[in-house]
Amino acid sequence: MISWLPINNDSDFSIHNLPFGIFSIHGGLKKVGVAISDKVIDLAALADHGLLKEIGGLAKSVLINEYLNDFIALGNSKTNGLRDHLRLMLTLESSPLKELPGALIDMDQVIMHLPVRVGDYTDFYSSIEHATNVGKMFRDPENALLPNWRHIPVGYHGRASSIIETNIPIRRPKGQVLLADSPTPLLTPTDKLDFELEVAFIVGKNSQLGQSVPVNHAEDYIFGLVLFNDWSARDIQKWEYVPLGPFLGKSFASSISPWVVPLEAFDAFRVAGPIQNPPVLDYLKIAGKKNIDLNLKVYIQPQDSKQHLVSNSNFKYMYWNMAQQLAHHTINGCNIKIGDVMASGTISGKDKNSFGSMLELSWNGQEPITLANGTTRSYIEDLDTIIINGFANNEYGRVGFGELRTQVLPAN
Ligand code: CA
Repeated sequence: MISWLPINNDSDFSIHNLPFGIFSIHGGLKKVGVAISDKVIDLAALADHGLLKEIGGLAKSVLINEYLNDFIALGNSKTNGLRDHLRLMLTLESSPLKELPGALIDMDQVIMHLPVRVGDYTDFYSSIEHATNVGKMFRDPENALLPNWRHIPVGYHGRASSIIETNIPIRRPKGQVLLADSPTPLLTPTDKLDFELEVAFIVGKNSQLGQSVPVNHAEDYIFGLVLFNDWSARDIQKWEYVPLGPFLGKSFASSISPWVVPLEAFDAFRVAGPIQNPPVLDYLKIAGKKNIDLNLKVYIQPQDSKQHLVSNSNFKYMYWNMAQQLAHHTINGCNIKIGDVMASGTISGKDKNSFGSMLELSWNGQEPITLANGTTRSYIEDLDTIIINGFANNEYGRVGFGELRTQVLPAN
């Protein structure tokens, strides 16, 4: 499938991808856009010129909107039908899109915004390598996994209000910390600021309170995926997390990438997940391939320096998949809503260079990383920028997210 628009082989935004996001230009209205190559397709401009009538049209109030929620509510068949229609217009030599002024905007001209109004945010803990590493460091090296871990996709309810888009800097958070040589805690800026490399899915369909989503229908409730950086303050987390789990060590910020890649765009990259042993309960038993072969990279870029690759992981390592997470989330009758964000948990692989957090990469500060500029890192320092990217790639083509970039500013 060849487009008349030039698309580099290494572009995340191939003809197969066509992800959705919210953009604006020159301080104008926020609109729904589609990424292709180094362009953004302005869907409202297409609607103005009657180029969406083949798919039954789309309301301007949906396309000129602060968020994707109303667009997502159209349903996966409509939004994927739109992607098929755009693909046709991007490949037809006689395409009306070629001559339409303002329909294709240079990506470097737009500002990208938070793609969805996030209702609720849930964070899972679904990488067996990550859970094992954390268990080894903080509990028992011989029995690193807690007894429930292989039976339950463990998760907790996070904070939705502090989910932010790419290019929004964060402040180093303050909190209560218990230092090793002190009998009492003090209030201080975190000394152990960390990223967590995650992928999140955005819920695309409401479920009813009191009803459970069956595991093999769960993917019908997923609109698409984003990169997710679950910022963490390890010293605050360590002091506060007993007995109810993460709180202020997590809630100060989580960053998401601006383009939501529809789940269907990853169809050609499906793989089987790890074998689950012991066998899971029936409500978590899946049919078919539920993992995705998706390369993930994390870079640290110090101020006035080049970016340095610190983690090279893959979404396919996940022990618990998205369908199981969603089935488990609703097994008690908890309803889910369009725009809810459910994050994977830190994605670590077996090798040290595939660990998805500084906690693991520096083994809690015992083995600092040396960057290209000669400085070392146990955790993230002020003015560092964390860059995450992710893409799937095979003979079929490339599908990715672009970049998620966040700079850390000093504490207030
Ligand atoms: Ca997390």
